[in-house]
Amino acid sequence: MRIILLGPPGSGKGTQGEMIERKFNLPRIATGDILREAVKLKTPLGLAAEAQIKAGHLVSDEIVASLVAERIKQSDCLQGYILDGFPRNLNQIKLLEKMDNCQEEIAIEIYVPEETVIKRLVNRRICSSCGTVYNIITSPPQRFEFCDFCGGQLIQREDDNAEVIRERLRIYETEIKDIREHYCRKGVFYKINGEGSVDEVFKRIEIILESKIKKKV
Ligand code: AMP
Repeated sequence: MRIILLGPPGSGKGTQGEMIERKFNLPRIATGDILREAVKLKTPLGLAAEAQIKAGHLVSDEIVASLVAERIKQSDCLQGYILDGFPRNLNQIKLLEKMDNCQEEIAIEIYVPEETVIKRLVNRRICSSCGTVYNIITSPPQRFEFCDFCGGQLIQREDDNAEVIRERLRIYETEIKDIREHYCRKGVFYKINGEGSVDEVFKRIEIILESKIKKKV
């Protein structure tokens, strides 16, 4: 099964994706994470994508689609996979369906109002070493600026500043309407409330996924 997580930046796709990964034993493919790693390692891909990411713009559809195509060829994706951050527009949907015409898929939009998303993103800090995500207001680390788990330095993503956040949200709002419509037409679209605790949100997702999996049995 292919699980597509939709939602604005800061809606919790990464956190929920990791929880789905653990519970349903499916690999999570987060295009933003793959791109940020490439930037950090200064690979040709990273160098080509860096400016777009910093500005909050989309990297070329073909580049991102080829990353996903490579990843889903790996054997751990045979039973399915979770997509976080891809597809982000209709062209990417077309490229995805061409690379893997998966018969079973589900698209879940994690809906969070814009004010909440902005608050979450400006207060988000990430451990530069293990990637654990904190919110300095709602889930701060015990020791200021250091990770509770590995002691790594907490950093703010370069694109988590007010101006770039606004641009990322603008792009999201422009593209999401067509994406919703596409998956609605296929009868695989679900929208859940992304506010509340991480566990509460996960419960909402779990109910949908379990009902889909039960139907199959
Ligand atoms: P994210 O971590 O999903 O918020 O992605 C961070 C940044 O990576 C985005 O603002 C884009 O610049 C780039 N990116 C991630 N996924 C995609 C995608 N599917 N298409 C184009 N650009 C992407």
